[in-house]
Amino acid sequence: MKIKNTKIYNNYPLQIIILANVLWLAFYIAGMYVMFKLSLIMGILYILYIILLERSFLKEACVYCCYYGKLCAFGKGIIVAKFFKKGNSEKFCEREFNFKDFIPQLLVALIPLVIGIVLLISRGFDVLILISIVYLLLSWFAINPILYGKIVCLHCKQGSICCPALKFFMKKNQIRK
Ligand code: SF4
Repeated sequence: MKIKNTKIYNNYPLQIIILANVLWLAFYIAGMYVMFKLSLIMGILYILYIILLERSFLKEACVYCCYYGKLCAFGKGIIVAKFFKKGNSEKFCEREFNFKDFIPQLLVALIPLVIGIVLLISRGFDVLILISIVYLLLSWFAINPILYGKIVCLHCKQGSICCPALKFFMKKNQIRK
């Protein structure tokens, strides 16, 4: 997706990287707060799940990305180069995304969301659980669409070449129209 007169970044400016990471970290912290409120072991398992998810993303996507070794919107291009060898960039475009590919990420929000609601009903009102639930919902339905749609993907070099995730969401948006 290349929009006329839109600057494509070879390396994203620091302010975008900081913004993207602060919003994502807040998303993870909201989920962690709810899971630790449930129990210590569930909180630890939730963190392990996030680490495994991020690692698989680095290994299955970032190694093939044109931002390998560079500053993408999340800075992961630099991180992946420290842990994994560069892959063949043509492989980035070979993948076809569909809804099931997003289920692992969806669960990062869905599990604490459901547990948070159950905790509020069963254990009584907890303002921090409520704030965490609201932030998880806001992230999914408002913050991420703006972050990706208006900032990250708009200036993304990989997206201007090809991106299965972008293709999936653009297709989904066309169906919705
Ligand atoms: S743009 Fe996406 S796929 Fe590419 S390095 Fe950054 S996070 Fe990974």
